[in-house]
Amino acid sequence: VLATQPPCVLLNDGHKMPMLALGTGRGTAKETDTLDDVRNAVFWAIEAGYRHIDTAAVYGDEEQVGQGIADAIAKGIVTRDQLFITTKLWNDKHARDQVVPALKESLSRLGLEYVDLYLIHFPISTKADGSPDNIDYLDTWKGMEEAKQLGLTTSIGVSNFNISQIDRLLSNSNVPPAVNEFEVNPTLTQEPLVHHCMSHNIAVMAYSPFGFLVSRSRPDAPPPRYDDPTIGAIAAKYGKSPGQVVLRFAIERGLVPIPKSTNQKRIAENINIFDFELTAEEVAAISKFNKNVRVIEIEGWKDYPNYPF
Ligand code: NDP
Repeated sequence: VLATQPPCVLLNDGHKMPMLALGTGRGTAKETDTLDDVRNAVFWAIEAGYRHIDTAAVYGDEEQVGQGIADAIAKGIVTRDQLFITTKLWNDKHARDQVVPALKESLSRLGLEYVDLYLIHFPISTKADGSPDNIDYLDTWKGMEEAKQLGLTTSIGVSNFNISQIDRLLSNSNVPPAVNEFEVNPTLTQEPLVHHCMSHNIAVMAYSPFGFLVSRSRPDAPPPRYDDPTIGAIAAKYGKSPGQVVLRFAIERGLVPIPKSTNQKRIAENINIFDFELTAEEVAAISKFNKNVRVIEIEGWKDYPNYPF
């Protein structure tokens, strides 16, 4: 199998990040995956040419992600330095002195000496039991800067931060975030937040990149669904699938999409998007689906301090 490799984006700290990542979070689209499925998915992805894997402490699968990486290295497909591994700090470890130990635990589960990118998963802090806490993410960020200084992570960034949270972080930190990872798809195009991040040289990772194109077990889900005629016409024009068109939509916007799949065929399909381009008109037509409707809302956190949405 000749693997296609995605191009990279240049981060504001000088490091390069591959423009497509395999998502390993389970459970946002009525998943029935086992942890072993994650190990296989990571291996298949690397075999297919993925060099970037997105995981998080809260996904509970860092160990399987690490096994998939180890399998690929053992088979001689890649070396560690050719991979870009992202993981995330969970909300109940936001105290400054909890950050480095939390990352060390992630590294031990992953079986790695360092990750390439460590993200604050949400600006919200909670106690261990999930009840709201009020730790300032600026304090958490100091812990992130320490983790970078120690070489436990090459780059640091955030996830689910809104515009004012990004601004407050930028004006009160020594190291600016290299990345903000948040939801972007055709029903949630996020033009203002994308523009804001890019104008500050913060790269954007787009989670839930398919939006409601794929099953979310929501009968009221807004278009585009998988059989949407607009997406279908663009797909037919390029000989691609609706999923590939929607991922390419993210690439055209300069975003780094994170499609999740544990299916070997779809894993290969999702990286096969670097041999065609959408026109500006097609990007505009897909952008018109925007309704500011989220896949990931987390209603239960609405009253927590720093709720970002
Ligand atoms: P996605 O948009 O990646 O959708 C995943 C779903 O799409 C799965 O059901 C998958 O099924 C299906 N699928 C994958 N490829 C195709 C295809 N080519 N055609 C049709 N269906 C397809 O959503 P997620 O919400 O899973 O987000 C992706 C990743 O983003 C997560 O895994 C995680 O890494 C990250 N994320 C980060 C968050 C954050 O707070 N930072 C929040 C949410 C997600 P199958 O596996 O069977 O192929």
